[in-house]
This record gives sequence, structure tokens and C-alpha cells, in this order.
Amino acid sequence: MLEPRHGSVCEDGPVSAHRPFDFPEAREAVVDAGKRLFDRGLVTGTSGNLSVRVGDRIIATPSGAPLDSLDAESLSTIDLSGTHLGGAVPTSEVPLHLAVYRHTAASAIAHTHAVASTAVSCVCDELPALHYNVLQLGGAPRTSRYATFGSEQLGAHVVQALTGGRHAALMQNHGSIALGSTMAEACDRLELLEWLCELHLAAHQLGSPRVLSDAELHDAEQAFGDYRARLRPRR
Ligand SMILES: [Zn+2]
Repeated sequence: MLEPRHGSVCEDGPVSAHRPFDFPEAREAVVDAGKRLFDRGLVTGTSGNLSVRVGDRIIATPSGAPLDSLDAESLSTIDLSGTHLGGAVPTSEVPLHLAVYRHTAASAIAHTHAVASTAVSCVCDELPALHYNVLQLGGAPRTSRYATFGSEQLGAHVVQALTGGRHAALMQNHGSIALGSTMAEACDRLELLEWLCELHLAAHQLGSPRVLSDAELHDAEQAFGDYRARLRPRR
């Protein structure tokens, strides 16, 4: 989790002391992520929402704002109970973000209605492991059960789909969500999930795709471990 900076809203006491430009790095990360996901085609219109957690505060995208044209000042600040502390009215998916922060170690969340992910969410309860890169999402992503957007129930279903260390999930008939220790990492994972869903759709156009076995995934996990060890600087 990111630590609050000195002089931040966490240390300022009363809500009235809130300054719109507290947590500038978190705000910049959210603004950059909105542009990035839009540029890569994962966002349409005002769909999707982003947040970064800093201590017991959350910087979230505003309700009804296109993610490609956010500005740092317009972002919302809420606390872990969902109380709106400053900025614009936060996204309607606040209950979803709060549920994930309460039940995971995430410091950032990215959620969009990217087309391939949404299409697969309508069909699959779990994304089959066609590629070993599912391991970078903590295993084959599950699809959370459908619930109305903005509801507490939706947050509970998504938390359930993320159990066991999953870093991303599909949301049935809705979209996708990914978590990270940073906003950039959450975006990386959301993009990877969309790529895996595109792969799934493309493979099914050709026939009935082969799914990696548990043993093959286990071997790939070990290979990832060896690869990371080789990248570690030597002392
Ligand atoms: Zn949504």
C-alpha cells in the first residue's frame, strides 16, 4: 500500500481542512491511467472507473467523467467507509472499489467495459488457460456473478472471484477489473486480461482450442521463477 505523504489529508484532521491537490502523485497516476486505457481502446464513453488507495484515503474517478479527459483537480477523495471528502461526486462503483480494498492488499483498481473481456464474461465462468500468461494474473481469471452496477452485491461477487490471489476478474455481462500495487500495474493486468480474452475469441473462431494442463502451468510457474531470479541484480 502507498503511504500517505507528510501534510496529506490523512494528517490534516477535519474534513474542512481537505485540500483538492493532496496526494498529487496518486492523482497523476489516475489521470495517466485514464488516458492510457482510452488510447489502447479499453474505454468507450464514460464507462469504467479507476482508483488509488493512499493510506485510509482513496482517490477515485468522478461519476460520469470520460476517462481520457480527467484532470487532477476533478478527482474524488473518499475514505474507506465511502464518505465523500472532496472533489467531484465519485464513481457509482464506489461500493465495488471499497469491497476490493477491504478484502485484498491492492493499492490500485482499474475497471472498464473492454469489449473482448465483456464478451467472454457473458459466456465463461472462468477464462480457460490457453496461454501461460494467465499466471501473471494469479491464475485463470474467474467471472464474478452478475449484480446491478453500483450495488454492494456486485462488490461481494467480485471479491469472491478474486479469492486465492487472483489479480483480475471478469464481471458477468459487465466488464473486467484488475488490481495492482500501483495504478500502472493494475492497468498492465487489465490490458493482459483483455489480450487473453481476445486470444480466447480468436482461437474459438478456428475451432476448439487446447487448454494448458495443471502440470504445464506448474512448469511455466517454475520457469517464471527462474526467469525472475536471473533478472535479480547480483551483489
Ligand atoms: Zn462498469
